[in-house]
Parts: sequence; structure tokens; C-alpha cells
Amino acid sequence: MKTRVLILGAGFGGLELSTMLSEEVADQVEVTMIDRNDAFVFGYSKLDVMFGRGEMAGARLPYERFVKPGVRLLREEITAIDPVGKRVTTDAGVHEADVLVVALGADYDMDGTPGLAEHGDEFYSFEGAERLAGVIPGFTSGDAIIGVCDAPFKCPPAPSECALLLHDDLVAKGVRDACTITFVLPLPSPVPPSPEASKVIGAELADRDVRFIPGRRISSLRDGVTVLDDGSELPFDLFLGVPRHRAPDVVIESGMTEDGYVPVDFYTLKTSYPDVYAVGDVATAGVPKAGVFSEGAAKVVARSIIADLGRGEPAEPHKGQGSCYIEFGLDRVARVDIDFLSGPERTGSIHAASKEFVAEKDEFGSSRRARWFGL
Ligand SMILES: Cc1cc2nc3c(=O)[nH]c(=O)nc-3n(C[C@H](O)[C@H](O)[C@H](O)COP(=O)(O)OP(=O)(O)OC[C@H]3O[C@@H](n4cnc5c(N)ncnc54)[C@H](O)[C@@H]3O)c2cc1C
Repeated sequence: MKTRVLILGAGFGGLELSTMLSEEVADQVEVTMIDRNDAFVFGYSKLDVMFGRGEMAGARLPYERFVKPGVRLLREEITAIDPVGKRVTTDAGVHEADVLVVALGADYDMDGTPGLAEHGDEFYSFEGAERLAGVIPGFTSGDAIIGVCDAPFKCPPAPSECALLLHDDLVAKGVRDACTITFVLPLPSPVPPSPEASKVIGAELADRDVRFIPGRRISSLRDGVTVLDDGSELPFDLFLGVPRHRAPDVVIESGMTEDGYVPVDFYTLKTSYPDVYAVGDVATAGVPKAGVFSEGAAKVVARSIIADLGRGEPAEPHKGQGSCYIEFGLDRVARVDIDFLSGPERTGSIHAASKEFVAEKDEFGSSRRARWFGL
């Protein structure tokens, strides 16, 4: 009898986990991975799309190209999860598992910030980024706000990147002097675990005359006005928002979450339910919400499942290490190396922005396109 591994979500975490299981134990497992979408898209493509540097169609990696021995990828909507019975209901039926892995990412809570949907824009969904691609070219004067509604949120450097790229866009249009840019962030600094990276990004923001307001959440929006959590108000003509995040409703309804996310052992990614793991943005796992950490967590879970099958080396604890690439504008990219779980302290170090890291970021994407999609 093969071990039935059911993976919920074909994002960074699900794709890497199912690839490793296929590569190493396809003869012993029957892997079913479920996702509602028909394609995977790298999060950072949204910045390219909103600033007209790429088309969404080109960024889509179709799941029909994900073909791995021993893995079935089903396009279904997950409607209920029973972590005790390891039974999952979808719009197409019921799936039962011996090992269940929840990798459903984080959803956006548009209603969590009153007025955001009616009066602002957001750039964290594909639809939002595509909409903004039609709005940003027409923004030629007035006040722009990049506003992060609450923390935690995916890819902590992404809003800073947005501010730097918006500056470049306005300079290229010859209208920078007619516009202001304000950046509101709930965190105390752009990349809190790395004072060094925060200093460098802070200096870049200051150089570009971006007003940075750290430590403040967005409470609400009304027509042309943002209200912060200290009651202060900022006028805007363009609001580029990062919505509040939380685990998908189906995960919350399963009873697996605490404070909005699934608690796991940071080092093994095991939940409190036997043979049930959670990886990536859906979990509270002691690491930032970013694809590179979802992938790292998936590798640990793959090792653990493979070891339980009597194959491979015992799983090593999750080290929480990964590199994030940060767009600095003017075709330069910096790299921040993060290490959250391997030692007593969370650390992060930055490597200065250069053209070299543009190529390295491209390689980050193309290596995964090749590994997962054969593209
Ligand atoms: C603007 C922006 C820039 C970013 N830049 C970077 C970067 O440079 N580097 C980096 O590492 N990360 C980056 N990220 C973050 C990265 O995209 C996420 O952290 C990563 O995708 C999380 O991986 P995951 O596997 O946990 O979940 P996801 O990749 O979000 O996958 C979850 C999957 O679950 C599916 N799903 C959810 N609910 C259901 C349901 N009910 N039924 C069926 N399917 C469902 C979804 O369709 C999705 O495919 C960025 C994000 C944004 C928004």
C-alpha cells in the first residue's frame, strides 16, 4: 500500500514538496496536490505588472506543465478540512490522506480595513496589480501613498520596493516634482531583523524624497483621505495598499488556527494533529512570509515524510534561512540574506544593489520554472 500524501495548495511550498517526493519516493507515495487556480505566478511579478515592466500572461506558469511521476495535481476548490480525520472536501468530492500538508498561503482581508476596496488600490493580488497597470501611467500630479494596512504581510521588503519603483516611474514621466510619495508601514523599520538593510533602504527612500512613516497601521480610507491608527489623516490621489492578511477562511473554519494562522513547531512544521503539517504563509512558523521560506519549510517536511518511509537521511530542523531580492530601481537589485532559526538570534545582512543581483534574481525565477514546470 502506498502512503497517501495530500498537499493543499500548489504555491512555493506545495510545488517543492511534491517535486521532492516525486524525485525520491515516487514508488512509495501517492501524492495528490489540490489548487483552485490553473497557474502559478511568482509574487514579485506583481510589481513588474503594475509598473508596466511585464504582462501577467507572460508571468503565468500553467499547472498543466507540472508533470511529475507519482503526483496528481487537481484543479478544485477546497471547501472543508478535517485535520483529525485527515479528510478534505472540495467542490469535486472528498479526499482522504495518511499525511496531510496544508500549504494554502495567506488570503487578503479587504473588509478588514474599512474603505480600502472602495477608495484605494492594492497591489498584492494579480487583479490589483493588473488594474494598477492601467492607473499608474495616468498619475502625473498629486499625493501618492504606499500603505501597509497591518502586519504580518508577505515579503516585507515589497512595499519599500514599490515606493522606490514609483519614484523611478514618476521621474521617467518627468512629473516627480509634481508628486509626493509617502510610505506608511506598521513595522518599526523596512526590514526589522536587519538594521543594516533597514538603514540602506531608509537612505534610498530619503534620497528619493519619500516620506517614511514607520510604526503606523492604516485604520481606514475615505474619499481621498487615509486615516492612520493614531487618528492622523493623510490626503491621497493614489493609494497603493497592502491589505491585511490572514489564513484562508477554509483553514480558519477547520479550527486549526490561532491568531489567524496555523501554529506549528518551528523546526519540524508539524501541527498539533498527528501526521498533519503546515508550511508557508498559512503557518506561524517563526520566519517571514515569503516564497523562499515556504520552499525551505517544504524541504524539511519532504525529508520528514521520506525518513518516515525508511528512506534518506533523518530530517534536519528548519533553519529559516533564505535570500530575498530587493528592487532598488534603475535596474539594480540588492540581496538580503536572512537567518531566523539556526542560531540564538535572528539575523539579516544586505549586499549592496547591483546589476549582478538582477541576473541572480532572474536565475531564482528561471531555476524554479525549470525544476517545477520544465520551462
Ligand atoms: C508583491 C509581492 C512580491 C513578492 N516578492 C517575493 C520575493 O521576491 N521573494 C519571495 O520569496 N517571496 C515573495 N513574495 C511572497 C510570496 O509570493 C509568498 O510568500 C509565497 O507565494 C507563499 O508561498 P505558499 O506556498 O505559502 O503559498 P502560495 O504561494 O500563496 O500558494 C497557496 C496556494 O493555495 C491555493 N489556495 C488557497 N485557498 C484555496 C482553496 N480554498 N482551494 C484551492 N486552492 C486554494 C492558492 O490558489 C495558491 O496557489 C512576494 C509577494 C508579493 C505579494
